[in-house]
Amino acid sequence: MNEMELQVSASHALKSIARNEAIKSFFKSSKELYPLVLQAAKRYVAGETSEEAVSEALVLRSKGYEVSLEYIGENIRDEKECEAAKNEFLQLARKVGRAGSGAAISVDLSHIGLTIDRELAFDHLVELANEAALYGSSVMIGAEESTKTEQILDLYMRASERYPNVGITLQAQLNRTENDWHDIKRYPGRIRLVKGAYQEPKEIAIPRSDELNERYLHLAEMMLSSGRQLTIASHDEVIIESARQRGFLKSPNVEVEMLYGIRGDLLKSLKNEGYRTKVYVPYGTEWYLYFCHRLAEFPPHIYRALADMTTPDSARESVY
Ligand code: FAD
Repeated sequence: MNEMELQVSASHALKSIARNEAIKSFFKSSKELYPLVLQAAKRYVAGETSEEAVSEALVLRSKGYEVSLEYIGENIRDEKECEAAKNEFLQLARKVGRAGSGAAISVDLSHIGLTIDRELAFDHLVELANEAALYGSSVMIGAEESTKTEQILDLYMRASERYPNVGITLQAQLNRTENDWHDIKRYPGRIRLVKGAYQEPKEIAIPRSDELNERYLHLAEMMLSSGRQLTIASHDEVIIESARQRGFLKSPNVEVEMLYGIRGDLLKSLKNEGYRTKVYVPYGTEWYLYFCHRLAEFPPHIYRALADMTTPDSARESVY
């Protein structure tokens, strides 16, 4: 097995460990393991509470970054849990507003009801958009598996008609996205453009490739030329450099957003060059799966995670 094959294999192993419920509950009940792994996860999540997230948001804001905050969770099938998640998001919007951090709220609709009932998710989204609007803040809807895209776009369009502070994440990897853009372009709100994190069938999506990068840049150009507020959400230097060369980054409508703990060096250099930059900061007790995914998508991070477990505070050393 060469180095590349080894990384792919490690990535698959991590994803299947992450999905294994027995391992997860053993890990959660272990007094030794849980704090050790949480220490390493803190490179990628602000902590387990909204207080920790808001405090990190204030630190990042003081350094000149925009921030979006997300209470981690998705695919919740229990109505009471969805209600609790919605209440956590409402509290977060209030705390963010009162702290004056100006952070946006990121949310996956399957965390607040989409998996149970579309109208439940809609009601929760509207409540959240209303609360965020009271504090001059915005809500960014995440992109999920392609089976949910239709419903997510529908809820975005309905909510944004009443609340222009609601934005939507679109995935360049999906073949449908250019058409979706034409359908939604008359609605308000920021567009966050990502490549897409979900493994999708080849009939409806294209994998990581030059073709995907070209498509990403083509979509970005279309969105910008229609005067849309656009978030370039990528850690890919090829995308960032091409966006810079094509003059996208100079637009006052454009910001570059990266996940907390990933390519902070690149984001910092963009910020220092005067471009608008944003950090996506997640928090919550469901950080385990999120952490495993960060390691799986870039297996060299496994070494760093091991070092973080045994070197107190190394995960907290900020590159920002
Ligand atoms: P890739 O093509 O995956 O990687 C290109 C290069 O970027 C790599 O070779 C490497 O050099 C660098 N790189 C990428 N990842 C890492 C890493 N972890 N560590 C170090 N270097 C790395 N996806 C969704 O499906 N739905 C969402 O709602 C969503 N929201 C997102 C919000 C934000 C703010 C961001 C930044 C991403 C979001 N994503 C979302 C994830 C996104 O779809 C991609 O899966 C993820 O960003 C990786 O793709 P990429 O463009 O960064 O580069």
